[in-house]
Amino acid sequence: QPELSGDFAALMVWADGVRRLKVRANAETPLDAKVAREFGAEGIGLCRTEHMFFDAQRITDVRQMILAEDEAGRRTALDKLLPEQRSDFVQLFEVMAGLPVTIRLLDPPLHEFLPHEEAEFAEVARSAGIDIEVLKRRAAELHEFNPMLGHRGCRLGVTYPEIYEMQARAIFEAAIEVAVKSGAAPIPEVMIPLVGTARELELMKAVVDKAAEAVFADKGQRIEYLVGTMIELPRACLMAGEIAEIGEFFSFGTNDLTQTTLGVSRDDAARFLTTYVERGIYARDPFVSLDVEGVGQLIGMAAERGRAARPGIKLGICGEHGGDPASIAFCEATGLDYVSASPYRVPIARLAAAQAALAKQG
Ligand code: PEP
Ligand code: MG
Repeated sequence: QPELSGDFAALMVWADGVRRLKVRANAETPLDAKVAREFGAEGIGLCRTEHMFFDAQRITDVRQMILAEDEAGRRTALDKLLPEQRSDFVQLFEVMAGLPVTIRLLDPPLHEFLPHEEAEFAEVARSAGIDIEVLKRRAAELHEFNPMLGHRGCRLGVTYPEIYEMQARAIFEAAIEVAVKSGAAPIPEVMIPLVGTARELELMKAVVDKAAEAVFADKGQRIEYLVGTMIELPRACLMAGEIAEIGEFFSFGTNDLTQTTLGVSRDDAARFLTTYVERGIYARDPFVSLDVEGVGQLIGMAAERGRAARPGIKLGICGEHGGDPASIAFCEATGLDYVSASPYRVPIARLAAAQAALAKQG
């Protein structure tokens, strides 16, 4: 278990007294959440639920859900996944003990869930009682040439709302279970990924709110929660005013926002970006340190439009840049409320937030 001690701990106490930006962590396992708290995270800024779906125990059910031919088939698989998701969230809420937890609903590149090997198809066929040839045909139908620009993020929730409904149900059931058990009510912030239009968010928020009401009625108890959105497409930045009329918070997903603004694949960029940095085209790798000139302008515009539509809207960043000191200085200058970084970068983020606050004071 990591621990901050001695001079370093003292430095952190100083930094915490100076900084304005809150520091959260990107985490989805109880272990990562514990590490994050040891390092001083003040909440979870991004829980990527798709990582929970890769669990070896449940990937067959996930594949059954994705390959189902109709809603009834998907619901059969989702019924198996619900108790497991509920338990995932119970564990996270317990570790975070009343601190905010931003849970992002499923954002898969779909191809990562599809079976590839014969044995994987056979396993789904056996477990779901579906003919293997039917599964293979369905997998072929779902194949995409460019999955990162494909059927991912809220697009999946729009076509298959029952997936987001199951996840929302699991979140609220877990939150009430923990509130009853511990007395510290969790604060779930439900986050919709890859939104580009206000209508997408409106549809997905309705799914979440409906699931919340159903659980509250079931349990005879309510809890507070927020529904907000990732801002990770240039269109979302342009439409931030309309989007903020529906969303209660924004979290800038600067990995995808960098990819979509620069038109550079985040998965393949390393191959030529080193040359670009050597030739002075970019000062630093824009996937490591925020492209303040380009992507930064979009973030600034979205923050301004979002605040105009919803004064005081909560704004954060959860891309890799949330742990990069230069990018954190930009977040401070733009007046974001928090940065969210990987657990091991939380101490650096606390320090960088303090330095940025001091620099701003001049
Ligand atoms: C992002 O796009 O910046 C983000 C945080 O989401 P992910 O990396 O999971 O796409
Ligand atoms: Mg993203």
